[in-house]
Amino acid sequence: AALARITSLDAGIHAFLYVDAEGALAAAASVDRARAAGHALGPLAGVPVAVKDNLCQRGTPTTCASKILEGWIAPYDADVIERLRAAGAVIVGKCNMDEFAMGSSNENSAFGAVHNPWLQGRAPGGSSGGSAAAVAAGFAPLSLGSDTGGSVRQPGSFCGLVALKPTYGRVSRYGLIAFASSLDQIGPFARDVRDCARITKVVAGHDARDATSADVPVADYEAALGKPVKGLRVGVVRDAVDGPGNEPGVKAAMAKAIDTLRALGCTIVDVALPTAEHAVSAYYIVAPAECSSNLARFDGMRFGPRIESGDLKETYGKTRAQLFGPEVKRRIMLGTYVLSAGYYDAYYAKAQKARTLIARDYAKAFESCDVVLTPTSPSVAFPLGAKTQNPLEMYLADVFTLPPSLAGLPAINVPAGLDQGLPIGMQLTAPAFREDLLFQVAHAYE
Ligand code: GLN
Repeated sequence: AALARITSLDAGIHAFLYVDAEGALAAAASVDRARAAGHALGPLAGVPVAVKDNLCQRGTPTTCASKILEGWIAPYDADVIERLRAAGAVIVGKCNMDEFAMGSSNENSAFGAVHNPWLQGRAPGGSSGGSAAAVAAGFAPLSLGSDTGGSVRQPGSFCGLVALKPTYGRVSRYGLIAFASSLDQIGPFARDVRDCARITKVVAGHDARDATSADVPVADYEAALGKPVKGLRVGVVRDAVDGPGNEPGVKAAMAKAIDTLRALGCTIVDVALPTAEHAVSAYYIVAPAECSSNLARFDGMRFGPRIESGDLKETYGKTRAQLFGPEVKRRIMLGTYVLSAGYYDAYYAKAQKARTLIARDYAKAFESCDVVLTPTSPSVAFPLGAKTQNPLEMYLADVFTLPPSLAGLPAINVPAGLDQGLPIGMQLTAPAFREDLLFQVAHAYE
């Protein structure tokens, strides 16, 4: 049914870059055989799952929506792919995205934009726009994306989904093609909190193949769902919920969400994140710096196609000049600039200091609250093309998702009503490894 729906509807949405019909049918058949034989079934047995195209899945094309990886076939499975398979999931295909996960609208894909299933011509958000659209369009009940600075939460907001960025280190990055390694985390999209809790439990856990993977036990997230929220303290960041850049519909939805949480018995307290205003500047130094290093490996020699010129250096240059898109090149140039000897202290070291201050702001906020509430995005899904001429305006779409990323904290998008017929998202952030708290509050609210 999932494959049939993709075949009939994805031409108008473009959520997928590759549909693995053969692999999906084989996986589904093996679940059927296990069921017929009376074997115990995994927690996602037979459930279709779509995955972002920066996750390696053995034997399938993995492109990061870039021409520089066009035709490259992953030779191994990412840790999350192994875990999905072990849980009985049926992986249906690889989702469209912004090239190398750089973007907030999915328009940086080298293979064409994704349309928001809620309204043709609107952005699905990014960079995991295809993964979000796949769930919103009913192609699969679950998907995985990656979130470096908001790429799961913001498309979750634009597409009306529950979407989680886990704590940095909660989910193994083994087999995730790196963008900014100190920020990257894999996260799920789902239609409700229970589904999100279930897939999170499946993909989380320690993995020795990722040196930053945390050896912390994974809580029983579904058990957190029924717990009462009475007395839990929700910290509201006033500057964010009433932000001058927010659409009026977003402000009104946040006020309503706060009332709902109060009615559920939560205690609403005001908290401040005074250094969060520097998050956009700090992130757009740190992330490009790390990307300039990570993307050095794409030189036309080891992976994907090459523009041959006879001379080695020229071949490197031509390959990278012709096969990387404009946003990727912009980031590589910014990154090498801020890391260069003369500017390192002024930019990179300074951004790292801002990052520490933001993490301290959260530590202070959590002295007086259990979770922090902000909008996920200042706007509903904007029209395709609205921000492509002005990169800075596109970067500002991440204003609320970047602070938790820089602090390494878990944060979830929860649908919080509609404006102009389009979804609005509320973002809840918790202390490290307290995904259970996010699920508890989000479930009581939804
Ligand atoms: N929009 C942000 C960026 O362009 C975040 C991307 C992401 O989380 N991968 O870098």
